[in-house]
Amino acid sequence: PQPSSPPPPPPAAATPTTAPGGRDADLITEEAPLRVIIAGAGVGGLALAHALRHGGNAVDVTVLERTKEFRRFGGPIQLASNALQTVRDMDPELYSSVEQAATWTGNRTNGIKDGIRDEWYAKFDLGTPAKVRKMPYTCVVERPELQQIFLDRVGDCVQKGAGVKTYSYSPTGVVVTTDKDEEIQGDVLIGADGIWSAVRATMRNEPEKGEGSGVSYSGYTVFAGELDYDSPDSNEVGYKVYIGPKQYFVITDIGHGRYQWYAFLAREPNSAETEPKPAGSVPYLRDLFDGWSPDIHAILQATTEDEVEQRDLYDRPPSVLKSWTDHRVALLGDSIHAMMPNLGQGGCQAIEDAKVISEELGRSLP
Ligand SMILES: Cc1cc2nc3c(=O)[nH]c(=O)nc-3n(C[C@H](O)[C@H](O)[C@H](O)COP(=O)(O)OP(=O)(O)OC[C@H]3O[C@@H](n4cnc5c(N)ncnc54)[C@H](O)[C@@H]3O)c2cc1C
Repeated sequence: PQPSSPPPPPPAAATPTTAPGGRDADLITEEAPLRVIIAGAGVGGLALAHALRHGGNAVDVTVLERTKEFRRFGGPIQLASNALQTVRDMDPELYSSVEQAATWTGNRTNGIKDGIRDEWYAKFDLGTPAKVRKMPYTCVVERPELQQIFLDRVGDCVQKGAGVKTYSYSPTGVVVTTDKDEEIQGDVLIGADGIWSAVRATMRNEPEKGEGSGVSYSGYTVFAGELDYDSPDSNEVGYKVYIGPKQYFVITDIGHGRYQWYAFLAREPNSAETEPKPAGSVPYLRDLFDGWSPDIHAILQATTEDEVEQRDLYDRPPSVLKSWTDHRVALLGDSIHAMMPNLGQGGCQAIEDAKVISEELGRSLP
């Protein structure tokens, strides 16, 4: 006879809560909190440490940072409305500290200019989309200042000079091995260790750099300058991107009378070593941008050699097919979705990742 109703579905496979080793979530208590190790104290790692420490859950956070001192390169960071909204959602007090350090640019003129004709190609309306969604305007914050805001609020959980070399699993969770071959036990590891991520390399059994790492040279080297500068359009223009063949130049008002510029040049990798600059970087750039907007020459003229740094830019294609997690290990920020600086979103999206990961971890706790 025909059954009167379809057979019941087979029982769902049990989710392995401890695979491949580790404590069950219901063993996490105030006395035995979830031990989260974060590799990297960049913007993403610090945002996550902050979210976990202020999230009200039983979490013990350790941030392992490879460098002994934070570097200034990368200068100020633009925090677009999405990042600021995320910060505000995560913690209004944190937002208020960022707000105090911010120079607001999202309500000014920003856009792309023809580098040679010096005419606007496009002005971006960053203000209206933020306003209609009741989101904060885009701003710029000095990166070391942003780091300090986080460091002041995450307490003593950051260990500098403690690079992560690799990790493995143990019956009680994750074991992180540092550059000094120390072993640190945790329940969860988050790789927030940037584009050359050692955590990603271990997760995927790939090298950190070079062939097979998935990281490739972007085709561009960037010179960055940061200086006191009296610009004729300060308080009116946020950033201007002067574009032209094989190079472009960006000028950004970063507030308090300070300006940042970037010169992006299409070059072979390591051009810093192979391309001589006998008179220094500033005269070299003035020659390259000969015939371009007088704004470029005015700011270069005002820049001293010690205010300029150069670095090659590397990129990774978005990782959409391979997982961003492996059991008790997850990746965030540049370690898994690095992007070129001209998007102004790498740091912003690392902050968004931090919020999502902290919420996911919070949800998994009793
Ligand atoms: C010139 C330039 C301008 C930019 N401007 C903007 C902008 O305006 N807005 C924006 O949103 N983004 C910008 N970006 C991108 C942004 O800087 C990155 O996307 C962002 O810093 C990524 O954050 P992260 O925390 O993932 O990685 P990172 O900031 O790279 O931090 C990684 C941290 O991990 C540490 N580390 C590395 N390896 C290890 C290891 N093995 N163990 C322990 N620690 C390790 C590093 O020392 C570092 O402190 C810019 C980038 C550049 C290059």
